[in-house]
Amino acid sequence: MAEKITPRAEDYSQWYIDLVTQAELADYAPVKGCMIIRPRGYAIWEVMQRTLDDMFKAEGVQNCYFPTLIPYSFLQKEAEHVEGFSPEVLTVTHSGEKKLEEPLALRPTSETIIWHTFKKWVQSHRDLPLLINQWANVFRAEMRPRLFLRTVEFLWQEGHTAHATAEEANEFAKRMIHVYQRFVEDTLAIPVMVGVKSDSEKFPGAVYTYSIEAMMQDGKALQAGTSHDLGDNFGKAFEVQFQNKEGKLAPVYASSWGVSTRLMGALIMTHSDDKGLVLPPKLAPTQVVIVPIFKASNKDVVLAHAQSIYTEIKRAGHRVILDDKDGYSPGWKFAQWELAGVPLRIEFGERDMQSQSLVVSRRDRAEKESIEASQLLSYVEQTLATMQNDLFLSAKERMQTRTKELVDYPAFTRYFEEEGGFALACWCGDASCETKVKTQLQVTIRNLPFIQNEEAITGRCVVCGEQAKHQAIWSKSY
Ligand code: AMP
Repeated sequence: MAEKITPRAEDYSQWYIDLVTQAELADYAPVKGCMIIRPRGYAIWEVMQRTLDDMFKAEGVQNCYFPTLIPYSFLQKEAEHVEGFSPEVLTVTHSGEKKLEEPLALRPTSETIIWHTFKKWVQSHRDLPLLINQWANVFRAEMRPRLFLRTVEFLWQEGHTAHATAEEANEFAKRMIHVYQRFVEDTLAIPVMVGVKSDSEKFPGAVYTYSIEAMMQDGKALQAGTSHDLGDNFGKAFEVQFQNKEGKLAPVYASSWGVSTRLMGALIMTHSDDKGLVLPPKLAPTQVVIVPIFKASNKDVVLAHAQSIYTEIKRAGHRVILDDKDGYSPGWKFAQWELAGVPLRIEFGERDMQSQSLVVSRRDRAEKESIEASQLLSYVEQTLATMQNDLFLSAKERMQTRTKELVDYPAFTRYFEEEGGFALACWCGDASCETKVKTQLQVTIRNLPFIQNEEAITGRCVVCGEQAKHQAIWSKSY
Protein backbone atom coordinates (compact mmCIF):
# COMPACT_ATOMS: atom_id res chain seq x y z
CA MET A 1 0.00 0.00 0.00
CA ALA A 2 1.30 3.43 -0.86
CA GLU A 3 2.33 5.83 1.86
CA LYS A 4 0.04 8.69 2.75
CA ILE A 5 0.03 11.64 0.37
CA THR A 6 0.79 14.95 2.10
CA PRO A 7 -2.47 16.99 2.03
CA ARG A 8 -2.47 19.99 -0.30
CA ALA A 9 -3.39 22.39 2.51
CA GLU A 10 -0.33 21.31 4.47
CA ASP A 11 2.33 21.53 1.76
CA TYR A 12 1.31 21.91 -1.87
CA SER A 13 4.79 21.21 -3.27
CA GLN A 14 5.21 18.05 -1.25
CA TRP A 15 1.69 16.94 -2.21
CA TYR A 16 2.69 17.21 -5.87
CA ILE A 17 5.84 15.15 -5.43
CA ASP A 18 4.04 12.53 -3.31
CA LEU A 19 1.35 12.24 -5.92
CA VAL A 20 3.69 11.88 -8.89
CA THR A 21 5.72 9.19 -7.15
CA GLN A 22 2.93 7.31 -5.36
CA ALA A 23 0.57 7.27 -8.33
CA GLU A 24 3.55 5.77 -10.16
CA LEU A 25 3.72 8.44 -12.83
CA ALA A 26 7.44 9.10 -12.56
CA ASP A 27 10.56 8.39 -10.53
CA TYR A 28 13.75 10.27 -9.89
CA ALA A 29 16.69 9.27 -12.10
CA PRO A 30 20.31 8.90 -11.03
CA VAL A 31 21.23 12.12 -12.83
CA LYS A 32 19.91 15.23 -11.08
CA GLY A 33 17.11 16.90 -13.00
CA CYS A 34 16.31 13.86 -15.14
CA MET A 35 13.31 11.64 -14.54
CA ILE A 36 12.00 8.22 -15.34
CA ILE A 37 8.49 8.22 -16.74
CA ARG A 38 6.71 5.10 -15.50
CA PRO A 39 4.13 3.16 -17.54
CA ARG A 40 1.16 4.91 -15.88
CA GLY A 41 2.61 8.32 -16.65
CA TYR A 42 3.68 7.35 -20.14
CA ALA A 43 0.22 6.01 -20.97
CA ILE A 44 -1.23 9.48 -20.29
CA TRP A 45 1.50 11.10 -22.39
CA GLU A 46 0.63 8.71 -25.22
CA VAL A 47 -3.00 9.83 -25.19
CA MET A 48 -1.81 13.45 -25.33
CA GLN A 49 0.50 12.60 -28.23
CA ARG A 50 -2.17 10.81 -30.22
CA THR A 51 -4.71 13.57 -29.78
CA LEU A 52 -2.31 16.38 -30.61
CA ASP A 53 -0.75 14.52 -33.50
CA ASP A 54 -4.17 14.22 -35.15
CA MET A 55 -4.76 17.92 -34.59
CA PHE A 56 -1.41 18.81 -36.21
CA LYS A 57 -2.12 16.60 -39.20
CA ALA A 58 -5.48 18.32 -39.62
CA GLU A 59 -3.47 21.55 -40.07
CA GLY A 60 -1.41 19.93 -42.85
CA VAL A 61 1.69 19.28 -40.71
CA GLN A 62 3.89 16.24 -41.43
CA ASN A 63 6.12 14.39 -38.96
CA CYS A 64 9.84 13.84 -39.41
CA TYR A 65 12.93 13.30 -37.27
CA PHE A 66 16.16 15.25 -36.85
CA PRO A 67 19.20 14.11 -34.81
CA THR A 68 19.78 14.96 -31.14
CA LEU A 69 23.34 16.14 -31.77
CA ILE A 70 23.79 19.57 -33.32
CA PRO A 71 27.16 21.15 -34.21
CA TYR A 72 27.62 23.80 -31.53
CA SER A 73 28.49 26.41 -34.15
CA PHE A 74 24.92 26.17 -35.53
CA LEU A 75 23.57 27.60 -32.29
CA GLN A 76 25.91 30.57 -32.65
CA LYS A 77 24.51 31.63 -36.01
CA GLU A 78 21.53 33.47 -34.60
CA ALA A 79 22.75 36.05 -32.07
CA GLU A 80 19.75 36.18 -29.74
CA HIS A 81 19.29 32.42 -29.90
CA VAL A 82 22.79 31.63 -28.68
CA GLU A 83 22.65 34.31 -26.02
CA GLY A 84 19.39 32.93 -24.65
CA PHE A 85 20.24 29.26 -24.85
CA SER A 86 23.98 28.96 -24.19
CA PRO A 87 23.63 28.85 -20.37
CA GLU A 88 21.27 25.88 -20.78
CA VAL A 89 23.11 23.85 -23.41
CA LEU A 90 24.65 20.49 -22.54
CA THR A 91 27.62 19.81 -24.76
CA VAL A 92 29.34 16.64 -25.95
CA THR A 93 33.08 17.14 -26.20
CA HIS A 94 34.49 13.63 -26.63
CA SER A 95 33.98 10.62 -28.82
CA GLY A 96 35.41 7.78 -26.78
CA GLU A 97 38.81 9.04 -25.60
CA LYS A 98 39.17 11.45 -28.49
CA LYS A 99 38.38 15.12 -28.10
CA LEU A 100 36.01 16.29 -30.83
CA GLU A 101 37.22 19.00 -33.17
CA GLU A 102 33.93 20.76 -32.75
CA PRO A 103 31.74 20.31 -29.66
CA LEU A 104 28.23 18.99 -30.25
CA ALA A 105 25.18 20.37 -28.50
CA LEU A 106 22.49 18.06 -27.17
CA ARG A 107 19.57 19.89 -28.80
CA PRO A 108 17.81 22.32 -26.46
CA THR A 109 15.44 22.98 -29.40
CA SER A 110 15.99 22.33 -33.12
CA GLU A 111 15.54 25.60 -35.03
CA THR A 112 19.21 25.68 -36.02
CA ILE A 113 19.56 22.19 -37.47
CA ILE A 114 16.17 22.48 -39.11
CA TRP A 115 16.93 25.80 -40.80
CA HIS A 116 20.30 24.46 -41.87
CA THR A 117 18.33 21.70 -43.63
CA PHE A 118 15.60 24.00 -44.95
CA LYS A 119 18.31 25.71 -47.02
CA LYS A 120 18.32 22.52 -49.11
CA TRP A 121 14.58 21.92 -49.00
CA VAL A 122 13.34 25.41 -49.79
CA GLN A 123 14.24 26.71 -53.23
CA SER A 124 11.09 27.84 -54.93
CA HIS A 125 7.68 29.26 -54.00
CA ARG A 126 6.38 25.80 -54.82
CA ASP A 127 8.21 24.43 -51.74
CA LEU A 128 6.25 26.74 -49.42
CA PRO A 129 4.67 26.59 -46.98
CA LEU A 130 6.70 23.80 -45.41
CA LEU A 131 5.04 22.45 -42.29
CA ILE A 132 6.87 19.85 -40.19
CA ASN A 133 6.83 18.51 -36.65
CA GLN A 134 8.93 16.12 -34.64
CA TRP A 135 8.26 14.20 -31.45
CA ALA A 136 11.57 14.18 -29.62
CA ASN A 137 13.55 14.59 -26.43
CA VAL A 138 15.44 17.81 -25.69
CA PHE A 139 17.98 18.84 -23.06
CA ARG A 140 18.22 22.04 -21.05
CA ALA A 141 20.49 22.46 -18.03
CA GLU A 142 17.75 23.51 -15.62
CA MET A 143 18.91 24.73 -12.22
CA ARG A 144 15.62 24.23 -10.37
CA PRO A 145 14.29 20.94 -11.70
CA ARG A 146 10.89 19.56 -10.73
CA LEU A 147 9.33 16.31 -11.91
CA PHE A 148 7.50 16.90 -15.22
CA LEU A 149 7.39 20.69 -14.79
CA ARG A 150 11.01 21.42 -15.45
CA THR A 151 13.44 18.63 -16.21
CA VAL A 152 16.86 18.52 -17.80
CA GLU A 153 15.73 16.05 -20.45
CA PHE A 154 12.10 16.27 -21.47
CA LEU A 155 9.83 14.93 -24.17
CA TRP A 156 8.01 17.30 -26.45
CA GLN A 157 6.94 18.01 -29.95
CA GLU A 158 8.43 20.85 -31.88
CA GLY A 159 6.73 22.16 -34.99
CA HIS A 160 8.74 24.18 -37.52
CA THR A 161 7.29 25.95 -40.50
CA ALA A 162 8.61 28.01 -43.41
CA HIS A 163 6.50 30.59 -45.23
CA ALA A 164 6.73 33.00 -48.14
CA THR A 165 5.57 36.05 -46.18
CA ALA A 166 5.89 37.52 -42.71
CA GLU A 167 2.09 37.69 -42.41
CA GLU A 168 1.71 34.00 -43.20
CA ALA A 169 4.30 32.97 -40.60
CA ASN A 170 2.63 35.15 -38.00
CA GLU A 171 -0.80 33.81 -38.89
CA PHE A 172 0.47 30.23 -38.56
CA ALA A 173 2.13 30.88 -35.17
CA LYS A 174 -1.19 32.29 -33.93
CA ARG A 175 -3.13 29.41 -35.42
CA MET A 176 -0.98 26.90 -33.53
CA ILE A 177 -1.35 28.63 -30.17
CA HIS A 178 -5.09 28.28 -30.70
CA VAL A 179 -4.65 24.59 -31.54
CA TYR A 180 -2.89 24.24 -28.18
CA GLN A 181 -5.65 26.17 -26.46
CA ARG A 182 -8.27 23.87 -27.96
CA PHE A 183 -6.31 20.77 -26.97
CA VAL A 184 -5.59 21.89 -23.41
CA GLU A 185 -9.13 23.12 -22.79
CA ASP A 186 -11.05 20.31 -24.53
CA THR A 187 -8.88 17.30 -23.69
CA LEU A 188 -7.00 18.25 -20.52
CA ALA A 189 -10.00 20.28 -19.23
CA ILE A 190 -7.64 23.11 -18.26
CA PRO A 191 -8.76 26.68 -19.04
CA VAL A 192 -5.99 28.96 -20.26
CA MET A 193 -5.24 32.61 -20.93
CA VAL A 194 -3.94 33.10 -24.48
CA GLY A 195 -1.74 36.00 -25.36
CA VAL A 196 1.63 37.36 -26.38
CA LYS A 197 4.72 37.38 -24.16
CA SER A 198 6.47 40.61 -23.25
CA ASP A 199 9.83 41.15 -25.00
CA SER A 200 11.81 40.05 -21.95
CA GLU A 201 9.97 36.73 -21.74
CA LYS A 202 9.92 35.79 -25.41
CA PHE A 203 11.84 32.91 -26.99
CA PRO A 204 15.44 33.79 -27.93
CA GLY A 205 15.33 34.54 -31.65
CA ALA A 206 11.57 35.18 -31.88
CA VAL A 207 9.77 38.30 -33.04
CA TYR A 208 6.71 37.32 -31.01
CA THR A 209 6.09 34.47 -28.59
CA TYR A 210 2.49 33.48 -27.99
CA SER A 211 1.65 31.43 -24.92
CA ILE A 212 -1.15 29.67 -23.12
CA GLU A 213 -1.01 30.14 -19.37
CA ALA A 214 -2.91 27.96 -16.92
CA MET A 215 -3.60 28.51 -13.23
CA MET A 216 -2.68 25.75 -10.80
CA GLN A 217 -4.72 25.04 -7.66
CA ASP A 218 -2.35 27.17 -5.55
CA GLY A 219 -2.96 30.19 -7.76
CA LYS A 220 0.42 30.07 -9.53
CA ALA A 221 0.72 30.17 -13.30
CA LEU A 222 2.14 27.47 -15.50
CA GLN A 223 3.17 28.17 -19.08
CA ALA A 224 1.51 25.28 -20.83
CA GLY A 225 2.56 25.87 -24.43
CA THR A 226 4.30 28.35 -26.67
CA SER A 227 4.24 29.28 -30.35
CA HIS A 228 6.78 31.62 -31.87
CA ASP A 229 6.70 33.94 -34.86
CA LEU A 230 10.38 33.83 -35.78
CA GLY A 231 10.18 36.39 -38.62
CA ASP A 232 13.07 35.97 -41.04
CA ASN A 233 15.67 35.68 -38.24
CA PHE A 234 16.50 32.01 -38.83
CA GLY A 235 16.00 32.26 -42.60
CA LYS A 236 18.62 35.02 -42.67
CA ALA A 237 21.01 33.33 -40.23
CA PHE A 238 21.00 30.15 -42.33
CA GLU A 239 20.83 31.95 -45.68
CA VAL A 240 17.57 30.44 -46.78
CA GLN A 241 15.90 32.19 -49.71
CA PHE A 242 13.33 31.17 -52.26
CA GLN A 243 12.58 32.14 -55.80
CA ASN A 244 9.20 33.85 -55.82
CA LYS A 245 6.62 33.77 -58.60
CA GLU A 246 8.32 36.74 -60.24
CA GLY A 247 11.59 34.78 -60.33
CA LYS A 248 13.24 36.96 -57.67
CA LEU A 249 15.03 35.72 -54.54
CA ALA A 250 13.03 36.48 -51.41
CA PRO A 251 13.45 35.88 -47.64
CA VAL A 252 11.76 32.96 -45.90
CA TYR A 253 9.76 33.39 -42.69
CA ALA A 254 9.36 30.93 -39.84
CA SER A 255 7.26 29.76 -36.95
CA SER A 256 8.00 27.17 -34.28
CA TRP A 257 5.79 25.81 -31.54
CA GLY A 258 6.03 23.24 -28.75
CA VAL A 259 4.39 21.57 -25.80
CA SER A 260 6.17 19.19 -23.49
CA THR A 261 5.78 16.63 -20.73
CA ARG A 262 5.22 19.71 -18.55
CA LEU A 263 1.58 19.26 -19.53
CA MET A 264 1.57 16.23 -17.21
CA GLY A 265 2.39 18.59 -14.36
CA ALA A 266 -0.35 20.99 -15.44
CA LEU A 267 -2.84 18.17 -15.48
CA ILE A 268 -1.92 16.94 -12.01
CA MET A 269 -1.84 20.38 -10.41
CA THR A 270 -5.17 21.42 -11.92
CA HIS A 271 -7.47 18.52 -11.11
CA SER A 272 -5.98 16.13 -8.56
CA ASP A 273 -6.80 15.93 -4.86
CA ASP A 274 -5.50 14.54 -1.58
CA LYS A 275 -6.52 10.98 -2.53
CA GLY A 276 -4.48 11.04 -5.73
CA LEU A 277 -4.77 11.69 -9.42
CA VAL A 278 -7.97 12.97 -11.03
CA LEU A 279 -7.98 12.50 -14.79
CA PRO A 280 -10.37 14.03 -17.30
CA PRO A 281 -12.07 11.10 -19.08
CA LYS A 282 -10.88 12.05 -22.57
CA LEU A 283 -7.30 11.72 -21.40
CA ALA A 284 -7.57 8.80 -19.00
CA PRO A 285 -5.79 5.67 -20.32
CA THR A 286 -8.39 3.74 -18.27
CA GLN A 287 -11.77 5.45 -18.14
CA VAL A 288 -13.74 2.83 -16.23
CA VAL A 289 -12.70 0.20 -13.69
CA ILE A 290 -14.95 -2.65 -12.66
CA VAL A 291 -14.40 -3.99 -9.16
CA PRO A 292 -16.52 -7.09 -8.51
CA ILE A 293 -17.00 -8.00 -4.85
CA PHE A 294 -16.87 -11.72 -4.33
CA LYS A 295 -15.95 -14.49 -1.91
CA ALA A 296 -14.88 -18.05 -2.57
CA SER A 297 -18.49 -19.33 -2.55
CA ASN A 298 -19.79 -16.96 -5.27
CA LYS A 299 -16.62 -16.08 -7.15
CA ASP A 300 -17.54 -17.88 -10.39
CA VAL A 301 -20.95 -16.35 -10.81
CA VAL A 302 -19.84 -12.82 -9.83
CA LEU A 303 -16.82 -12.90 -12.14
CA ALA A 304 -18.86 -14.20 -15.05
CA HIS A 305 -21.19 -11.24 -14.63
CA ALA A 306 -18.23 -8.87 -14.32
CA GLN A 307 -16.81 -10.23 -17.56
CA SER A 308 -20.05 -9.57 -19.41
CA ILE A 309 -20.19 -5.97 -18.10
CA TYR A 310 -16.56 -5.51 -19.12
CA THR A 311 -17.27 -6.74 -22.65
CA GLU A 312 -20.32 -4.50 -22.96
CA ILE A 313 -18.38 -1.36 -21.97
CA LYS A 314 -15.39 -2.25 -24.10
CA ARG A 315 -17.56 -2.87 -27.15
CA ALA A 316 -19.07 0.58 -26.69
CA GLY A 317 -15.56 1.95 -27.26
CA HIS A 318 -14.54 2.96 -23.71
CA ARG A 319 -11.18 2.15 -22.13
CA VAL A 320 -12.10 -0.24 -19.33
CA ILE A 321 -10.38 -2.72 -17.04
CA LEU A 322 -11.69 -5.46 -14.82
CA ASP A 323 -9.99 -5.77 -11.45
CA ASP A 324 -10.70 -9.38 -10.53
CA LYS A 325 -7.49 -9.90 -8.55
CA ASP A 326 -7.68 -12.27 -5.62
CA GLY A 327 -6.24 -11.50 -2.22
CA TYR A 328 -7.03 -7.76 -2.02
CA SER A 329 -10.01 -6.26 -0.21
CA PRO A 330 -12.43 -4.08 -2.21
CA GLY A 331 -11.43 -1.12 -0.02
CA TRP A 332 -7.79 -1.57 -0.95
CA LYS A 333 -8.65 -1.77 -4.62
CA PHE A 334 -10.86 1.34 -4.44
CA ALA A 335 -8.01 3.35 -2.88
CA GLN A 336 -5.57 2.18 -5.57
CA TRP A 337 -7.87 3.15 -8.44
CA GLU A 338 -8.57 6.49 -6.78
CA LEU A 339 -4.84 7.09 -6.52
CA ALA A 340 -4.48 6.21 -10.22
CA GLY A 341 -7.25 8.65 -11.17
CA VAL A 342 -9.64 6.34 -13.04
CA PRO A 343 -12.70 8.55 -13.73
CA LEU A 344 -15.45 6.00 -13.15
CA ARG A 345 -15.66 2.96 -10.84
CA ILE A 346 -18.31 0.30 -11.06
CA GLU A 347 -18.67 -2.13 -8.17
CA PHE A 348 -21.18 -4.85 -7.48
CA GLY A 349 -21.66 -7.96 -5.40
CA GLU A 350 -24.09 -10.85 -5.52
CA ARG A 351 -26.87 -8.84 -3.91
CA ASP A 352 -26.58 -6.10 -6.56
CA MET A 353 -26.74 -8.81 -9.22
CA GLN A 354 -29.99 -10.08 -7.80
CA SER A 355 -31.51 -6.60 -7.80
CA GLN A 356 -30.06 -5.99 -11.29
CA SER A 357 -28.22 -2.92 -10.14
CA LEU A 358 -24.68 -1.58 -10.00
CA VAL A 359 -22.95 0.84 -7.66
CA VAL A 360 -21.06 3.60 -9.44
CA SER A 361 -18.81 6.41 -8.29
CA ARG A 362 -17.14 9.30 -10.06
CA ARG A 363 -13.54 9.99 -9.13
CA ASP A 364 -14.19 13.70 -8.63
CA ARG A 365 -17.22 13.19 -6.36
CA ALA A 366 -17.34 11.71 -2.86
CA GLU A 367 -20.71 9.94 -3.12
CA LYS A 368 -21.65 6.62 -4.70
CA GLU A 369 -24.94 5.92 -6.44
CA SER A 370 -26.88 2.88 -7.50
CA ILE A 371 -28.04 2.52 -11.09
CA GLU A 372 -30.13 -0.07 -12.93
CA ALA A 373 -27.89 -2.50 -14.77
CA SER A 374 -29.92 -1.93 -17.96
CA GLN A 375 -28.93 1.76 -17.89
CA LEU A 376 -25.21 1.00 -17.75
CA LEU A 377 -24.05 2.08 -21.19
CA SER A 378 -25.97 5.31 -21.35
CA TYR A 379 -24.85 6.09 -17.79
CA VAL A 380 -21.18 5.52 -18.64
CA GLU A 381 -21.41 7.58 -21.80
CA GLN A 382 -23.17 10.48 -20.16
CA THR A 383 -21.12 10.48 -16.96
CA LEU A 384 -17.77 10.51 -18.73
CA ALA A 385 -18.92 13.49 -20.80
CA THR A 386 -20.36 15.31 -17.78
CA MET A 387 -17.25 14.73 -15.73
CA GLN A 388 -15.04 16.08 -18.50
CA ASN A 389 -17.15 19.21 -18.62
CA ASP A 390 -17.41 19.60 -14.83
CA LEU A 391 -13.65 19.41 -14.38
CA PHE A 392 -13.20 22.17 -16.94
CA LEU A 393 -15.90 24.33 -15.38
CA SER A 394 -14.55 24.01 -11.87
CA ALA A 395 -11.01 24.84 -13.02
CA LYS A 396 -12.42 27.79 -14.95
CA GLU A 397 -14.35 29.03 -11.95
CA ARG A 398 -11.19 28.83 -9.84
CA MET A 399 -9.24 30.80 -12.43
CA GLN A 400 -11.96 33.45 -12.65
CA THR A 401 -12.30 33.76 -8.88
CA ARG A 402 -8.58 34.13 -8.47
CA THR A 403 -8.08 36.68 -11.23
CA LYS A 404 -8.29 40.20 -9.91
CA GLU A 405 -8.20 43.51 -11.77
CA LEU A 406 -5.87 45.87 -9.96
CA VAL A 407 -5.01 49.48 -10.67
CA ASP A 408 -2.59 50.68 -7.99
CA TYR A 409 0.74 49.33 -6.82
CA PRO A 410 0.01 49.06 -3.05
CA ALA A 411 -3.08 46.93 -3.76
CA PHE A 412 -1.11 44.92 -6.34
CA THR A 413 1.66 44.23 -3.79
CA ARG A 414 -0.82 43.30 -1.07
CA TYR A 415 -2.62 40.93 -3.45
CA PHE A 416 0.54 38.93 -4.08
CA GLU A 417 1.63 39.00 -0.46
CA GLU A 418 -1.72 37.96 0.96
CA GLU A 419 -3.70 36.03 -1.68
CA GLY A 420 -1.93 35.39 -4.95
CA GLY A 421 -3.41 34.32 -8.23
CA PHE A 422 -3.57 36.20 -11.52
CA ALA A 423 -3.57 39.99 -11.47
CA LEU A 424 -5.00 41.69 -14.52
CA ALA A 425 -3.28 45.05 -14.51
CA CYS A 426 -2.14 47.71 -16.97
CA TRP A 427 1.46 48.07 -18.04
CA CYS A 428 3.35 50.88 -19.79
CA GLY A 429 5.44 48.44 -21.85
CA ASP A 430 8.71 49.36 -20.12
CA ALA A 431 10.95 46.44 -19.09
CA SER A 432 12.12 48.30 -15.97
CA CYS A 433 8.61 48.02 -14.49
CA GLU A 434 8.67 44.26 -15.13
CA THR A 435 12.08 43.99 -13.48
CA LYS A 436 10.92 45.90 -10.41
CA VAL A 437 7.94 43.58 -9.93
CA LYS A 438 10.04 40.51 -10.52
CA THR A 439 12.64 41.59 -7.97
CA GLN A 440 10.22 42.78 -5.32
CA LEU A 441 7.45 40.22 -5.61
CA GLN A 442 8.84 37.34 -7.71
CA VAL A 443 5.95 38.04 -10.07
CA THR A 444 6.23 38.15 -13.87
CA ILE A 445 4.04 39.09 -16.79
CA ARG A 446 2.64 35.77 -18.02
CA ASN A 447 1.28 37.27 -21.20
CA LEU A 448 -0.67 40.15 -22.68
CA PRO A 449 -4.01 38.51 -23.40
CA PHE A 450 -5.20 38.62 -27.02
CA ILE A 451 -8.54 39.83 -25.77
CA GLN A 452 -7.73 43.16 -24.18
CA ASN A 453 -10.07 45.36 -22.25
CA GLU A 454 -9.61 48.49 -24.41
CA GLU A 455 -11.13 50.75 -21.75
CA ALA A 456 -8.67 49.53 -19.13
CA ILE A 457 -5.69 50.29 -21.38
CA THR A 458 -6.54 53.96 -21.33
CA GLY A 459 -5.49 53.83 -17.66
CA ARG A 460 -2.09 53.99 -16.01
CA CYS A 461 0.70 51.45 -15.58
CA VAL A 462 0.17 49.65 -12.26
CA VAL A 463 3.88 50.00 -11.47
CA CYS A 464 5.03 53.49 -12.55
CA GLY A 465 1.76 55.31 -13.13
CA GLU A 466 2.66 56.33 -16.71
CA GLN A 467 0.25 55.93 -19.62
CA ALA A 468 -0.52 52.20 -20.11
CA LYS A 469 -0.07 50.43 -23.43
CA HIS A 470 -1.30 46.95 -22.55
CA GLN A 471 -3.29 44.96 -20.10
CA ALA A 472 -1.17 42.11 -18.71
CA ILE A 473 -1.63 38.97 -16.65
CA TRP A 474 0.84 39.05 -13.77
CA SER A 475 1.50 36.06 -11.55
CA LYS A 476 3.98 33.97 -9.68
CA SER A 477 4.72 30.93 -11.76
CA TYR A 478 6.22 27.46 -11.89
P1 AMP B 1 10.21 26.87 -25.51
O1 AMP B 1 10.95 26.20 -26.61
O2 AMP B 1 11.12 27.46 -24.46
O3 AMP B 1 9.18 27.85 -25.99
O4 AMP B 1 9.41 25.72 -24.74
C1 AMP B 1 8.47 24.93 -25.41
C2 AMP B 1 7.60 24.22 -24.42
O5 AMP B 1 8.36 23.39 -23.54
C3 AMP B 1 6.84 25.17 -23.54
O6 AMP B 1 5.53 24.68 -23.47
C4 AMP B 1 7.54 25.12 -22.22
O7 AMP B 1 6.62 25.38 -21.19
C5 AMP B 1 8.09 23.71 -22.18
N1 AMP B 1 9.35 23.62 -21.43
C6 AMP B 1 10.39 24.50 -21.46
N2 AMP B 1 11.40 24.08 -20.66
C7 AMP B 1 10.99 22.90 -20.11
C8 AMP B 1 11.59 21.96 -19.18
N3 AMP B 1 12.81 22.16 -18.69
N4 AMP B 1 10.88 20.85 -18.86
C9 AMP B 1 9.66 20.65 -19.37
N5 AMP B 1 9.05 21.49 -20.23
C10 AMP B 1 9.70 22.60 -20.60
